[in-house]
Amino acid sequence: MDRINVTQSSMPSYEEYIEEIRDIWDSKWLTNMGKKHELLQKKLQDYLGVENVMLCVNGHSALEVALQSEELQGEIITTPFTFISTTNAIIRSGCTPVFCDVKPDTYTIDPDLIESLITERTVAIMAVHVYGLVCDVEKIAKIAEKYKLKVIYDAAHAFGVKYKGQGLASYGDISTFSFHATKVYNTIEGGAVCFNNASLKDKITKIRDFGIKDSENVDYVGPNAKMNEFCAAMGLCNLRHVDSEINKRKNVYLRYIKNLKDVKGIKLPILQDDVQMNYAYFPVIINENEYGINRDELCAILAKNNIFARKYFYPLTNQFECVLKYCEKGNTPVAEYITQRVITLPMYADLKLEFVDRICEMVKKYEKK
Ligand SMILES: *Cc1c(COP(=O)(O)O)cnc(C)c1O
Repeated sequence: MDRINVTQSSMPSYEEYIEEIRDIWDSKWLTNMGKKHELLQKKLQDYLGVENVMLCVNGHSALEVALQSEELQGEIITTPFTFISTTNAIIRSGCTPVFCDVKPDTYTIDPDLIESLITERTVAIMAVHVYGLVCDVEKIAKIAEKYKLKVIYDAAHAFGVKYKGQGLASYGDISTFSFHATKVYNTIEGGAVCFNNASLKDKITKIRDFGIKDSENVDYVGPNAKMNEFCAAMGLCNLRHVDSEINKRKNVYLRYIKNLKDVKGIKLPILQDDVQMNYAYFPVIINENEYGINRDELCAILAKNNIFARKYFYPLTNQFECVLKYCEKGNTPVAEYITQRVITLPMYADLKLEFVDRICEMVKKYEKK
């Protein structure tokens, strides 16, 4: 039986990529804001509907560059239900994560709990549009305004998602994306810092490049977070196809919903009002009492049948010892509930619908009769 992985990277044809990189051999310009890089930045500004897109070498460095540009020092209220990158970025920037619980329907930070966590040391909120589900951007904006906090969105999962017709990149002070091979849109490795505030542009441009101002001056203690031309070229190719890739994902997603909607004890992802989705993941919550077996058992059974689902996100980031050296665990019972029960089923544009059916048959087989 074919192996079905949780994801498979979107790629252009070999010929399309070769054509795209051909002129790199003429220019011999491999990195440092080359032609491909500049063009991709422009095209992404249009696609994402945001004034400034600063490409980065990966999504994690985009988060760190974003945090450094806001010169934050203190506590950042954030979610533990995310990839470790979000939490690591906060700690590596010298700030302290303060973990807030999430909502049981969207798994995003619960805005009604944020205020109780605000102290004199709070400087920002870092929320995650986890699985591409949209955070309560309006409520979060209100709290931020009231307490004068910065808002940074880790939008790593949310490429192409729109809320009320507007790209998510425009929400908060800064939003960051990941263009990693496993994401909806990829540049092999890559990421971006997005913002509308023009006054950040010069600063972020410098920070991304060691903090260098010119040949004799350095303004910031920055990392090297630049994207190279080969990655930008992959990005230009993949951008031509991303809408059709998202559409193919939608068919997979709808097939899952159709097949699994009546299975007892399995909670499917919700549809959000006013949201144009990107169908990045297909997370389901397994309630052992109703379904029959638990998440770990289901995951093991699927793996035995060559179906490699993943426990995204398990464990929570506030359960790692290396994280708890820097901060308190916080009280996040909803996130704990979800992390113990969630499984993300295989989801990618080229996943054949007959494979989706096969996965669903396997899932249904273990439903308590
Ligand atoms: C993938 C991811 C990142 C990191 O992006 P990279 O491009 O892999 O560095 C950050 N946050 C979340 C939520 C992610 O899923």
